[in-house]
Amino acid sequence: MTRVFSGIQPTGHLTLGNYLGAMRRWAEVDQHRADSLFCVVDLHALTVDHDPARLRRLSRQTATLLLAAGLDPEVCTLFLQSHVDEHTRLSYLLECVATDGEMRRMIQYKEKAAKQRERGGSLRLSLLTYPVLMAADILAYGADEVPVGEDQTQHVELARDVAVRFNQRYGHTFVVPRTTLPPVAARVMNLQDPTRKMGKSDESGAGVVYLLDEPDVVRKKVLRAVTDSGREVVHDRAARPGLANLLDILAACTGGSPESLAAGYDSYGSLKKDTAEAVVEVLRPVRDRHRELCADPAYVEGVLREGARKARELARPTVDTAYRAIGLLPPV
Ligand code: ATP
Ligand code: MG
Repeated sequence: MTRVFSGIQPTGHLTLGNYLGAMRRWAEVDQHRADSLFCVVDLHALTVDHDPARLRRLSRQTATLLLAAGLDPEVCTLFLQSHVDEHTRLSYLLECVATDGEMRRMIQYKEKAAKQRERGGSLRLSLLTYPVLMAADILAYGADEVPVGEDQTQHVELARDVAVRFNQRYGHTFVVPRTTLPPVAARVMNLQDPTRKMGKSDESGAGVVYLLDEPDVVRKKVLRAVTDSGREVVHDRAARPGLANLLDILAACTGGSPESLAAGYDSYGSLKKDTAEAVVEVLRPVRDRHRELCADPAYVEGVLREGARKARELARPTVDTAYRAIGLLPPV
């Protein structure tokens, strides 16, 4: 059976980008057709400035929202990265296979490092090595597929390169994973700046729809989305990025293709209105279920405990094999 692994960082409140680009597919498709593991990658959230109390809150909230989005612990494994030591154990070995040049070429590193420097802060070394830990997350489970948004394809490529290199040098140990992308909304853009990806750690929330935003807030954000001064509704990502973003979001929420949806509109106003309503409807069940789950924190905790147990069992043999293959003696 195909094995799927993917993760999400508790760095902020989850967004419509996270939902359409990743989570919804995990819940609607991946968990039903594959042996799937989904992880709240809390260690990755330590690579940028963080507040311990906020991280605790967001880790719980992220796990709860994943369940609210439809992940079913009867068919998939949901857990916290820091509860399974195999991730960091393997990460160190992979640091001995990856190069610093590879790390410095990563777009996410360049973008997040630039942002951090702008603020005048120093960079955490872990921001540079982040993709190696992510490779360990994936390779520890022998994942065949990694369903992510488009922004993560470069990191999955790196995991592939590292797996191939390790296998060539030390003998076959890792499955070489591949990215899977959603057919639409693989890269939801910020509504106020459609040249930038919508991200949960964006400073200003005006262009970011959060899964837990009240319906009226969602409507307001979508209706105020920045478009251009054209009149005709066409889907052209390069020339009309704001409009294309709305059409992508509408297509992802209602089905259909962004191009054919464009043909049905003759004004920006009606497109925005329909998009706002479509987003509110898509998020409604997630918000409702989230509210119910918040009333039962013991249930969520139980899911995470059992998830970590299953994940540890799956990861340990592969990581042990990697330790032996690279030349480390077994404990005596
Ligand atoms: P951060 O700003 O802290 O990096 P993020 O919103 O990018 O947060 P991640 O935890 O890094 O979220 O990514 C979780 C998943 O969501 C990944 O699969 C990523 O590709 C996907 N994703 C994130 N943002 C978007 C987006 N705007 N459109 C589509 N998919 C996205
Ligand atoms: Mg990200």
